[in-house]
Amino acid sequence: MKLLSKLKAKRSYDYSPAHRLLEVCAIFSFFAFLSVIGLRAVAGFVTVSLYQALWIGSLSAILGYIAADFVSGFVHWMGDTFGDIDMPVLGAAFIKPFRDHHVDPEDITRHDFIEVNGNNSLVLLIIFVPAFFLFKEASNLWHLFMLSFTVFFAFGIFMTNQFHKWAHLPERPAWIVRLQSLSLILAPDNHNIHHTSPFDTYYCITNGWLNPLLHRLRFFQLSEKLVRWVLRIPKQTT
Ligand SMILES: [Zn+2]
Ligand SMILES: [Zn+2]
Repeated sequence: MKLLSKLKAKRSYDYSPAHRLLEVCAIFSFFAFLSVIGLRAVAGFVTVSLYQALWIGSLSAILGYIAADFVSGFVHWMGDTFGDIDMPVLGAAFIKPFRDHHVDPEDITRHDFIEVNGNNSLVLLIIFVPAFFLFKEASNLWHLFMLSFTVFFAFGIFMTNQFHKWAHLPERPAWIVRLQSLSLILAPDNHNIHHTSPFDTYYCITNGWLNPLLHRLRFFQLSEKLVRWVLRIPKQTT
């Protein structure tokens, strides 16, 4: 009992130890699935020609990383826009972190690796499990493309909250600044637009590549109108 109370006193997170354990398991499962699917893809790449390996590898990497950026923006937009923190299940786990982030944007910088990346690892099982069973023949070009796409997409989603955290760090190591200045990961300038009134654009937080395009297309504003019209959700007035 003494050990348990000591552990509770020392803990660096303010949620239940059971959820902490779930996050740790989810991160392990992420690396296990990434290794298995990644090794299957590598085994496929050595069976195809160099030309095929180059175009499949580069196209799947770019599309996977862009898809991760889009999904990060879409999920972020839903969390910021719809529902309430008091909603059952989704309220505390999904909506509250997004709403809290706008109240205290630097709070994420005080979260450790497990807290930052645990929930995304859990969600990635939705992608990994079907990919594992559906794309078994790595010598098949379509399967090979999807295996490689899954690796880059999952990597992008896994790193999304980490990149988001780094965009908020007041002081950043030089190598992170370099990656941000090359726009290989979410850059603070790009993300600051989201944290500027009216807070309804630049939702993408993996690399932010899609933000200027989606902003110009008014994608999220039009999507919100569509969702509210279809589901008859009235606009919240706060
Ligand atoms: Zn937001
Ligand atoms: Zn932010």
